[in-house]
Amino acid sequence: MGRTLLEKVWELHTVRQLPTGQTQLFVGLHLVHEVTSPQAFYVLRTRGWPVAFPDRTFATVDHIVPTRERRRPFLDVLAEDMIATLERNCRDFGVPLWNVGDRQQGIVHVIGPELGLTQPGMTIACGDSHTSTHGAFGAIAFGIGTSQVRDVLATQCVAMEPLKVRRIRVAGTVPRGVYAKDVILAIIRRLGVRGGVGYAYEYAGEAIDRMTLDERMTICNMSIEGGARVGYVNPDEKTFAYLQGRPHAPSGDAFAQARTWWASLASDRDARYDDDVEVRADELAPVVTWGTNPGQSVGIDEPIPTPEAMPDSDRPAIADALEYMGLTPGARMTGQRIDVAFIGSCTNARLSDLREAARIVRGHHVAPHVKALVVPGSAGVQIAAEREGLDQVFRAAGFEWRDAGCSMCLGMNPDKLEGRQLCASSSNRNFKGRQGSPTGRTLLMSPAMVAAAAVAGQVVDVREVVL
Ligand code: SF4
Repeated sequence: MGRTLLEKVWELHTVRQLPTGQTQLFVGLHLVHEVTSPQAFYVLRTRGWPVAFPDRTFATVDHIVPTRERRRPFLDVLAEDMIATLERNCRDFGVPLWNVGDRQQGIVHVIGPELGLTQPGMTIACGDSHTSTHGAFGAIAFGIGTSQVRDVLATQCVAMEPLKVRRIRVAGTVPRGVYAKDVILAIIRRLGVRGGVGYAYEYAGEAIDRMTLDERMTICNMSIEGGARVGYVNPDEKTFAYLQGRPHAPSGDAFAQARTWWASLASDRDARYDDDVEVRADELAPVVTWGTNPGQSVGIDEPIPTPEAMPDSDRPAIADALEYMGLTPGARMTGQRIDVAFIGSCTNARLSDLREAARIVRGHHVAPHVKALVVPGSAGVQIAAEREGLDQVFRAAGFEWRDAGCSMCLGMNPDKLEGRQLCASSSNRNFKGRQGSPTGRTLLMSPAMVAAAAVAGQVVDVREVVL
């Protein structure tokens, strides 16, 4: 019987089985940021423990870092304090830090792949749920809490529950105007926001095979929004080509050896899955969320559901979400007037996302009532985009062009919604208050759809705008 990639990588990193039924796993790469690490470092400091593997630990600043005014000290005292704490911790514990002003700084899930730190067959942990992003490279990558950040810093190990594997085959061809973001939103809508609990999602099928690594990252990024701790794609020639020449990837003979090993980790043809699901890519339309979790979405050409048409058990949550969002059951998402357009986050702020959004806004202008911002996922993305003149395209269209960070994905920094503003967002969470205002409202969609909405001042079907 063949094995899945998850089984192979899990076994290779198993230190021992714990009496709790969990597995003690060795962590190949630990990514650290300013928000979930201070308590963890504090424990090490007070106990006199070193970081076990500083050469497998890399830190950057992303969550709280301002994206506009970056002179130190930051105007935001909390941000200044958190970043100063991370600087001190990294210095004292010998952990490399990519700080504000460095070319390698950026959202932790954007810089890992960009720098070639993320590689097939690794176990990767980070104190952020969207660590699943790195699974696009055939890594087993998962978010951990602050106490586990402490465990990994101190021991390079973490206790994990065993996972089942659900293969999600995306068959057919993704139509024009439909993006990886739409595919994953459609998957989450179908399987539910808790459908993946206890599973790793293995994404496969022709549509996934055809996707770029950037697109696969978008898919894997949102696995956690479907309840799956881990999402991955088997490594292939595109994976190897992406990694070749990256600063932290192996080079020369070591690359050739690594490539052979990476290829051997892909799930075997006769691997057994705990569940198998097929999604038809050709049937998909651009997807927009109407509710307060990423599973509450519709295709742009469908009406918002009415609670009465849904199972009894779902009705209270749907009614509550509709009331919070101020949306009418049965109405269409097209035509909903937006206040803010945000292109950013670890889901959709890579160079390819910005190129596509720029293609849509080029020669147009943001609607007068819309505040629109583009926040590159990393300084590397920012530099590359500016080299291509994308910043000029966005600025000419009335967007603000910011420095790299999480920005309005979570509103832990000065980029926040105000009051009940409605935001078309390329991020990954539309929970109540997620974007910094307790009453702010988020519509998740692809960056292309955000760009089109920014120009129209309302939600539109990007396929009817410029394609
Ligand atoms: S962009 Fe959002 S989801 Fe991604 S790491 Fe930052 S806060 Fe987390």
